[in-house]
Amino acid sequence: MNNSDKIKQAAEILSKAKRIVGFTGAGTSAESGIPPFRGEGGIWNKYDPNSLDIDFYYSHTKDSWRIIREVFYNFFSNKEIKPNPGHEVLAKWEKEGRLSAVITQNIDDLHTVAGNKTVYEFHGNMARFVCTHCGKKFTAKEIQLTENPPRCEDCGGLLKPDFIFFGEGIPENAYYGSINAAENCDAFIIIGTSGQVSPANMIPGIAKRNGAKIIEINMEPSTYTNYITDLYLEGKSGEILPAIDTLIKWC
Ligand code: NAD
Repeated sequence: MNNSDKIKQAAEILSKAKRIVGFTGAGTSAESGIPPFRGEGGIWNKYDPNSLDIDFYYSHTKDSWRIIREVFYNFFSNKEIKPNPGHEVLAKWEKEGRLSAVITQNIDDLHTVAGNKTVYEFHGNMARFVCTHCGKKFTAKEIQLTENPPRCEDCGGLLKPDFIFFGEGIPENAYYGSINAAENCDAFIIIGTSGQVSPANMIPGIAKRNGAKIIEINMEPSTYTNYITDLYLEGKSGEILPAIDTLIKWC
């Protein structure tokens, strides 16, 4: 089957589905200009991943924050990063009442910016900060990123980006919300993820075991493709999702 037949088939499956869930990874945001963490051009080729270890953040806060700021906040504020057509289609399907949730491994906030309301951020969100002392949350825009380290305006406690560092657990609401969404969908779309990061990578299997049709979009086969994927579409999610959307006729 060629890709245009597969796009038609994906549209047929999704048109009949009442509860669609999107499961996204770094590839979903690649067309928004956000580089992957691993592989060619990935940030872990340039920086030591230990700088994102939670113990290192507490023991070497200034060094750790300097790197985090450079990696995440200088980059994102220097470029105009915005949702791409793939994000926009997922937001449209939610608005049309057919997509029940996006489960994302990304921390870039782009699904929310695109307009999705039910977003389970498995690894947290870099656009928020949390006080490690009093728990108050701030948006990145509300804090002084140049301060090293950034501190809570209320209690003076150390602020931490609200994404998970190595050594931290998955946020409870995202973990249980993702499992529940995967258990209760009839179509599950895996988009732009290699499936190597655990425990997020067990979520698609839950959807499969509960009877959902598994559609996958990626530039190359992933750990899912030959195991649980029912329909694999090779290419960019920012092109394939809009192509599917033009053929959707909700039943
Ligand atoms: P990964 O880097 O392991 O895999 C990315 C996948 O996307 C690859 O399989 C690649 O073939 C595919 N891909 C690349 N461009 C694509 C495109 N245009 N359309 C469709 N697919 C494309 O990413 P992962 O599986 O998400 O795991 C990486 C971890 O790093 C995650 O935990 C995530 O939190 C984090 N991360 C987040 C961001 C972000 O927030 N935007 C960026 C990089 C990494």
